[in-house]
Amino acid sequence: MSAKRRQAIFTEHCTGHNIAPCCLCGEPIQRHEDRWIIEHRRALALLGPDLNTNCAPAHFKCGEVKTHTQDLPRIRKAKRQQARHEGTKKPTRGFEAPAGVVFDWKLRRYVLRPTASQP
Ligand SMILES: [Zn+2]
Repeated sequence: MSAKRRQAIFTEHCTGHNIAPCCLCGEPIQRHEDRWIIEHRRALALLGPDLNTNCAPAHFKCGEVKTHTQDLPRIRKAKRQQARHEGTKKPTRGFEAPAGVVFDWKLRRYVLRPTASQP
Protein backbone atom coordinates (compact mmCIF):
# COMPACT_ATOMS: atom_id res chain seq x y z
CA MET A 1 0.00 0.00 0.00
CA SER A 2 1.34 3.41 -0.94
CA ALA A 3 1.89 6.03 1.71
CA LYS A 4 -0.49 8.29 -0.18
CA ARG A 5 -3.29 5.73 -0.17
CA ARG A 6 -2.63 4.96 3.50
CA GLN A 7 -3.05 8.63 4.40
CA ALA A 8 -6.09 8.93 2.13
CA ILE A 9 -7.88 6.06 3.89
CA PHE A 10 -7.04 7.64 7.24
CA THR A 11 -8.48 10.94 6.02
CA GLU A 12 -11.68 9.18 4.90
CA HIS A 13 -12.18 7.90 8.44
CA CYS A 14 -11.29 11.13 10.22
CA THR A 15 -13.73 12.34 12.84
CA GLY A 16 -11.61 15.31 13.90
CA HIS A 17 -8.42 17.04 12.83
CA ASN A 18 -5.96 14.19 12.18
CA ILE A 19 -7.95 11.92 14.50
CA ALA A 20 -9.73 8.76 13.38
CA PRO A 21 -11.22 5.95 15.45
CA CYS A 22 -9.43 2.62 15.56
CA CYS A 23 -11.59 0.11 13.67
CA LEU A 24 -10.78 -2.59 16.25
CA CYS A 25 -10.89 -0.95 19.69
CA GLY A 26 -12.76 2.27 18.86
CA GLU A 27 -10.23 4.48 20.65
CA PRO A 28 -9.05 7.53 18.70
CA ILE A 29 -5.79 7.42 16.74
CA GLN A 30 -3.65 10.55 16.43
CA ARG A 31 -2.28 10.64 12.89
CA HIS A 32 1.15 11.96 13.87
CA GLU A 33 1.45 10.62 17.42
CA ASP A 34 0.37 6.98 17.38
CA ARG A 35 1.75 4.04 15.46
CA TRP A 36 -1.06 2.87 13.20
CA ILE A 37 -1.68 0.67 10.20
CA ILE A 38 -4.39 0.24 7.61
CA GLU A 39 -6.28 -2.86 8.61
CA HIS A 40 -8.08 -4.98 6.01
CA ARG A 41 -11.38 -5.73 7.72
CA ARG A 42 -11.58 -8.99 5.80
CA ALA A 43 -8.05 -10.30 5.33
CA LEU A 44 -6.70 -10.39 1.80
CA ALA A 45 -5.82 -14.06 2.24
CA LEU A 46 -9.51 -14.72 2.97
CA LEU A 47 -10.39 -13.15 -0.39
CA GLY A 48 -11.19 -9.76 1.11
CA PRO A 49 -11.12 -7.13 -1.62
CA ASP A 50 -8.24 -4.65 -1.65
CA LEU A 51 -10.64 -1.72 -1.76
CA ASN A 52 -10.75 1.34 0.44
CA THR A 53 -14.15 0.20 1.73
CA ASN A 54 -12.50 -2.96 3.13
CA CYS A 55 -9.80 -0.88 4.83
CA ALA A 56 -9.78 1.18 7.99
CA PRO A 57 -7.10 2.59 10.27
CA ALA A 58 -6.22 0.64 13.40
CA HIS A 59 -3.60 0.92 16.10
CA PHE A 60 -0.52 -1.11 15.27
CA LYS A 61 -1.03 -3.09 18.50
CA CYS A 62 -4.71 -3.78 17.77
CA GLY A 63 -3.84 -4.92 14.24
CA GLU A 64 -1.21 -7.34 15.50
CA VAL A 65 -3.70 -8.86 17.94
CA LYS A 66 -6.34 -9.30 15.22
CA THR A 67 -3.83 -10.78 12.78
CA HIS A 68 -2.59 -13.40 15.20
CA THR A 69 -5.77 -14.28 17.09
CA GLN A 70 -8.33 -14.09 14.26
CA ASP A 71 -6.92 -13.86 10.76
CA LEU A 72 -4.08 -16.39 10.84
CA PRO A 73 -6.10 -19.20 12.48
CA ARG A 74 -8.93 -18.54 10.02
CA ILE A 75 -6.49 -18.51 7.06
CA ARG A 76 -4.96 -21.80 8.19
CA LYS A 77 -8.42 -23.35 8.52
CA ALA A 78 -9.43 -22.08 5.07
CA LYS A 79 -6.31 -23.70 3.59
CA ARG A 80 -7.14 -27.02 5.30
CA GLN A 81 -10.72 -26.85 4.03
CA GLN A 82 -9.51 -26.16 0.50
CA ALA A 83 -7.00 -29.02 0.63
CA ARG A 84 -9.72 -31.40 1.79
CA HIS A 85 -12.09 -30.17 -0.89
CA GLU A 86 -9.47 -30.69 -3.59
CA GLY A 87 -8.66 -34.12 -2.18
CA THR A 88 -5.01 -33.35 -1.55
CA LYS A 89 -5.43 -34.05 2.16
CA LYS A 90 -6.73 -37.28 3.60
CA PRO A 91 -9.17 -37.03 6.50
CA THR A 92 -7.31 -37.62 9.76
CA ARG A 93 -10.34 -39.21 11.38
CA GLY A 94 -13.50 -40.98 10.37
CA PHE A 95 -14.33 -43.63 7.88
CA GLU A 96 -12.78 -43.50 4.47
CA ALA A 97 -14.55 -45.44 1.71
CA PRO A 98 -12.33 -48.07 0.10
CA ALA A 99 -11.15 -47.43 -3.42
CA GLY A 100 -13.69 -48.19 -6.16
CA VAL A 101 -16.65 -47.98 -3.81
CA VAL A 102 -19.22 -45.18 -3.56
CA PHE A 103 -22.12 -44.57 -1.21
CA ASP A 104 -25.49 -45.08 -2.90
CA TRP A 105 -27.95 -42.79 -1.14
CA LYS A 106 -31.00 -44.61 -2.56
CA LEU A 107 -29.79 -48.03 -1.38
CA ARG A 108 -28.23 -46.42 1.70
CA ARG A 109 -25.15 -48.57 1.47
CA TYR A 110 -21.79 -48.72 -0.23
CA VAL A 111 -21.81 -50.18 -3.73
CA LEU A 112 -19.09 -50.79 -6.27
CA ARG A 113 -18.57 -47.73 -8.42
CA PRO A 114 -20.77 -48.16 -11.51
CA THR A 115 -18.76 -48.82 -14.66
CA ALA A 116 -19.43 -47.49 -18.13
CA SER A 117 -21.12 -50.73 -19.29
CA GLN A 118 -23.89 -50.45 -16.69
CA PRO A 119 -26.64 -47.82 -17.13
ZN1 LIG B 1 -7.08 0.29 18.66
